[in-house]
Amino acid sequence: MRNIASQEEILDLKTTDIYFLRARKVLRKIGFNPKVVMEITCSSREQPWITLSGLDDLTELLRGKKVDAYSLPEGTIFPPRDMNGIPIPAVKVDGKYLDFGMLETPMLGSLSQASGIATKASYFKKRIGELPLLSFGVRRMHPALAPLIDRNSYMGGCDKVSSIIGADRIGKKAEGTMPHSLLLLLGEDRGWKVYDEVIEEGANRIALVDTYSDEKESSLRAARAIKGLNAVRLDTPSSRRGNFADIVREVRWELDRNGKKGVGIIVSGGIKEGDIEELKKAGASGFGIGTAISSASAIDFAMDIVNIEGKDKTKKGKYSGSKNVFRCRKCHSYLVSVNTREKCPSDGSQMESLYHKVVENGKVIYRENIQESRNYVLEQLGWYQLS
Ligand SMILES: [Zn+2]
Repeated sequence: MRNIASQEEILDLKTTDIYFLRARKVLRKIGFNPKVVMEITCSSREQPWITLSGLDDLTELLRGKKVDAYSLPEGTIFPPRDMNGIPIPAVKVDGKYLDFGMLETPMLGSLSQASGIATKASYFKKRIGELPLLSFGVRRMHPALAPLIDRNSYMGGCDKVSSIIGADRIGKKAEGTMPHSLLLLLGEDRGWKVYDEVIEEGANRIALVDTYSDEKESSLRAARAIKGLNAVRLDTPSSRRGNFADIVREVRWELDRNGKKGVGIIVSGGIKEGDIEELKKAGASGFGIGTAISSASAIDFAMDIVNIEGKDKTKKGKYSGSKNVFRCRKCHSYLVSVNTREKCPSDGSQMESLYHKVVENGKVIYRENIQESRNYVLEQLGWYQLS
C-alpha cells in the first residue's frame, strides 16, 4: 500500500511537520539544545470527558530517546479541564528539546486518534450499560488502522470487535453475525440453516433479518430455522426505518409471544449516541456500532513547552510550569497543581497523584494491560455523567 508510512519512516521523522525540522536545523546551527518540560493538553471544552488511550504507540516513539515521560494511567477518564478550569496535562515529557521535540507530530497523532476512539466508545458504553456493545467500524477506515480502531474501541468499553486482527490485538475472539451477501446468495431460510450447520459450535448464532422481508416475520422464521438462535440482527436500511425503535418493539413483542423470549435483538446501521436510550427501551439487547466510533473526532491534544532549563515559561493561552495531576478518591474531581501532594478543596480528602512514569531515560516502562485498562474505564464510567 502506498499510503501507509512504516514505523521506520515515522521514527525517521518522515511524517513530522517540516517546521520542526527547520527548527532543528536552526538550533543545531547555533548549538542550542536546552532541557525542557513539554506537556500534552486538550484545552477545548467540547468533550465532557476524555478517555486516555494510545500510550502503546506514544511510548514506542520515545524508546531510546534520552527522556523521561509521565502519563495518566491508560484508560483514565478525565475532563479536559480541572475544577479550576486549568487544562489537565495527560502526558509530560522531560528531556533535551532536540532529543524528542521533532516527534511532536507523531506523538500527538498517536494519542489524539486513539483517545478519540476510546472516548467515543466510552460514551456509547456509558449509555448502553450492561448490554453488549460491538465494534463494527473497521470497514469505514483505512484497513491498516484496523488494529488501532479495535484496540481502542475495546479499551474504551466495546465488549467485542469484528476484525480478526483487532481481536488478535486484544487477545479475544472476533465477533460477528452474517453478511447480507450470504442471504442474497442462498436465500434467507437456506442461508440461516446452512450457517447453523457449518459454523463451529460455541460461536453465537445471530441471524440477520432485514434482507428481503418484514423484520418481525423474518425473525420468527429465523427462530424456527435455527434452534439455538441467540439473537436476530436488525440492520434495517434507513429508507425503510420509519421509527426504528418501534420496529424493535414489535419484533420483541412477537418473539415473546411465540416462546422466543431468549432470542435477543441486536441493532446496527448508523446508530448514534442519541438513539440508544429509545432503542434500549424498545427492547434492543445489543448494539453494533460502526462509523460513530471508528471515525470519532480526534481529541484536540496540543504539546507545549512549559519549562526551559528550570525556568517556567510557556506561550500565551497555556499555563507555565511542570505540573502534577490529582484526583479526589472521594468525589473524583480533578486538580492540576505544581505541588506533589494535594487535598481536595471540596471535601478535604487526600487526593491521588495520577502520573506514572512511562519512559525512563529512553527505557519504556509502560506495560500494556488492555483488560486492566478497560476494567478501569468501566469503573470510572460510574463516576461521571453525560448530558
Ligand atoms: Zn473530593
